Amino acid sequence: MIPFQFNKKSSAEQRKCVEKYSSLLLARANEKKIKEIDDWCRMNLSRSFSTVITASYKELCELKEKLAAPDHEGRYSLPNPIKKYLINTLYKEHVPRNYLIDCLDVTVCPYCNRAYINRSKNHTVCQLDHFFDKAAYPIMAVSFYNLIPSCGTCNLTKKQQPLGYSPYDPRFDSADQLLEFGFTAETERELQGLKKVTSIVIQSKEKCMEDNIYHLELPELYQIHRDIVQELLYKKMIYSKEYVDDLKKQYPGIKIDPGRLVIGNYTTPDSYGKRPLAKMMADIGRKIKLID
Ligand SMILES: [Zn+2]
Repeated sequence: MIPFQFNKKSSAEQRKCVEKYSSLLLARANEKKIKEIDDWCRMNLSRSFSTVITASYKELCELKEKLAAPDHEGRYSLPNPIKKYLINTLYKEHVPRNYLIDCLDVTVCPYCNRAYINRSKNHTVCQLDHFFDKAAYPIMAVSFYNLIPSCGTCNLTKKQQPLGYSPYDPRFDSADQLLEFGFTAETERELQGLKKVTSIVIQSKEKCMEDNIYHLELPELYQIHRDIVQELLYKKMIYSKEYVDDLKKQYPGIKIDPGRLVIGNYTTPDSYGKRPLAKMMADIGRKIKLID
């Protein structure tokens, strides 16, 4: 639900990252096997394997349509040894995960915006989800724009189910175009932040988000964060507009957006991906007029 900031890089910059990713990947691979895969791609897809690795998100969507077309059933099936090599060796052992994560500059799961994803020097403490399932489309198992760093919960919840929206999708600049958080409260005590709200609600006008919300089980998973909404409502009771204006007056040189200080999270669409729950807190913070 949070578009990668990587999409905002120029196409030349993106290209540079993707080309380097491809060369790091292929440098570790078995030349003979890569030649076999390349021959298969040229023969069946009329393109080289390297252009499948570096294909843009739009090109991958087109390729997926081609591979999924029912009248071609069977024609694009990869021979088993190639499929095995692609998934068990090339993907599992040779994908330069840390390089990919550095390129994307991603620190919070883009699917749920609930969990940090990290990397240390030697370990990548995040999972890579294949937006287009690797079992169904093994030829895209190592394509840069098919790999989504994500948290364990999302990767496990999604399994092989198809999603409609990828964080690489360039049609959307901001998560605000994709979905909106709200809540329901049944009592005055809930509205005053004295009790957890009844529920957190996620709405979207975009059809492509339906599967993401449903298959990633976001409405259910988000209910655990009702205490955060409670805190926002409580803050609304004690942080009057005068109090916030006073803060701004008292610290005129303040570098951080006052809204961020008030809700304790980032509030702009470009920064939702920097800290868990930023999108939910910003949406609800605005809804209750705690922030502008
Ligand atoms: Zn997640």
